[in-house]
Amino acid sequence: MHYCHSCDTQIAMEPHDGFAICPICGRMDDGAAVRPLFVVTGASGSGKTAVLAPLARLLTGRCITFDVDWLIDAARDLGNGPPVRWPAFQEAWLAIAHGVAQAGMPTVLLGLFIPRHLEELSARRWVSDIHFSLLDCPDDVRRDRIKTRPTWRRHDVEGQVGFGKWLRTHIDHHFDTNEGTPEDIAVAISVWVIDRMTSPRSQQEDS
Ligand SMILES: [Zn+2]
Repeated sequence: MHYCHSCDTQIAMEPHDGFAICPICGRMDDGAAVRPLFVVTGASGSGKTAVLAPLARLLTGRCITFDVDWLIDAARDLGNGPPVRWPAFQEAWLAIAHGVAQAGMPTVLLGLFIPRHLEELSARRWVSDIHFSLLDCPDDVRRDRIKTRPTWRRHDVEGQVGFGKWLRTHIDHHFDTNEGTPEDIAVAISVWVIDRMTSPRSQQEDS
């Protein structure tokens, strides 16, 4: 993402105190602030779409909030059609989070990401702590939600229930979208985000 403009070969720079530093020649470029990334993950039917708008409003001025699916069509087109190249897709979102950080703000992503996938990416170094939480609901509620969708969104019900179970055992912090309105859940998520932004102790627990 940051490459040295002094070295004759393409050298990837490293982040340091808001600067990008070339490990070969020592060149320092500014504009390389890093901020935390918050990921609200969940299998299909978790309620991510309903939570997006109220959450984005609640975090106005503190974080920038995105639904990762907004780039799915572009990702398909860039790859000349399906399947989406997921590592490249996730790299793109880390790059966006790094861009948002230059305005001094963390990024919140609603989307089906898991921690291990992000940790392995080359752009990982350009965000600071990554905090994960899970949007969850009882399995029968998920089945009902997916089955009542329009036909084009009604896919892979049992696969998503299984993935939801897997996430439940691998992500520590949960929000149950069956226990409140989308606005209620958005408030709870915003409290979690702001707490992690302002509490060094909480950040250590997540890392
Ligand atoms: Zn250099």
